[in-house]
Amino acid sequence: MTTNPYSWIEQSLDTIHRAGWYRSTNTISGRPGATIKIDGRPYLNFASNDYLGLAGDDRLIAAAIAATQEHGTGSTGSRLITGHRELHRALERTIATLKQTEDALVFSSGYLANVGAIASLVGKRDLVLADQYNHSSLRTGASISGATILDYAHCNIEDLSNNLAQQRDGFQRCLILTDSVFSMDGDLCPLPEILNLADQFECMVLIDEAHATGVMGETGAGCVEHFGCTGRRIVQMGTLSKALGSLGGYIAGSATLIDFLRNRAPSWIYTTGLSPADTAAALEAIRIVQQEPHRRQHLWNLVTSLKTVLQQTGLKVLPSESPILCVQFPNVKSALETSQALKEQGIFAPAIRPPTVPTSRIRFTVMATHEPEQIHRLATAFGLLCV
Ligand SMILES: *Cc1c(COP(=O)(O)O)cnc(C)c1O
Repeated sequence: MTTNPYSWIEQSLDTIHRAGWYRSTNTISGRPGATIKIDGRPYLNFASNDYLGLAGDDRLIAAAIAATQEHGTGSTGSRLITGHRELHRALERTIATLKQTEDALVFSSGYLANVGAIASLVGKRDLVLADQYNHSSLRTGASISGATILDYAHCNIEDLSNNLAQQRDGFQRCLILTDSVFSMDGDLCPLPEILNLADQFECMVLIDEAHATGVMGETGAGCVEHFGCTGRRIVQMGTLSKALGSLGGYIAGSATLIDFLRNRAPSWIYTTGLSPADTAAALEAIRIVQQEPHRRQHLWNLVTSLKTVLQQTGLKVLPSESPILCVQFPNVKSALETSQALKEQGIFAPAIRPPTVPTSRIRFTVMATHEPEQIHRLATAFGLLCV
């Protein structure tokens, strides 16, 4: 009798089911927005990364259609061969202007931007210090690089400092990696303190602005701007696929850094360039970020009201300074049940559970296109559940 070399997969899936860690997709139809259709039913959407409501905006759609008509659907090759258009360069210059950096480089996703940049900046003889709650793409980049990786306690400057004092001397280059807005908690990294330590211990810093681009800072440039650190030597990564409503990622920084990445980052060199439609939509989104600050202002007003609503439930609201607000639950079951009960009342906010995060929670994200009335609807629904 032959044994099936794939039978372990089924056993592994069983384990996932038993732990309550099994996940599956939701089928969304129609344009994204403050309300969405899931399996044909409308829901109030508190689960989107589309913070400015731009993914369904007519102007981005028009820009994507026009670019498709002019340049076709695919970019047909890697940027260094046949995949480069003037549109890509226009987007990179616009990102550099928004971030006030010398230059920027656009990747086909944020994940690829992190993986490519990190693996290019450090190698075997180097040290990576990483916040324990960093995004998966930062972890993957660090592990591919071959560098020694040490996690420091979440946002804990003392732990980072101790690690540097004990370990820095044993390595050549050192790179500190951190999310700026932590995606599953909504809190911010202590950037000014991290930059001071980086100066003291001669370290590079890569900050992931995925959830901050277009949202944080006076002009929407991100947390670097929010903390008044514009112009400091930082490798800034971000995505085009959250507040910018498109697809793709970027690295912004010095002209030398960008020139180096164009020559070294395998996830930029050996993959197809961003499609004309995605590139044009992102370009239009940044124009809107720059010209319509009232969208951000409205978003922050709504964040303040939702925070008040959630605090009134009596459940623990995790500390947040972003449009990501999490309510903690004692276990997976109660988080899943509450999320399901909200869904039955027409509200979509998913339970986020281990292994993604250490504690079970429901994660709410606010969009600039939510109406105050929709925040009240959530308050009413939660009020009924918590009595
Ligand atoms: C979403 C996300 C990414 C990946 O960006 P994509 O463009 O979706 O690949 C990277 N880092 C963080 C913190 C994210 O939330």
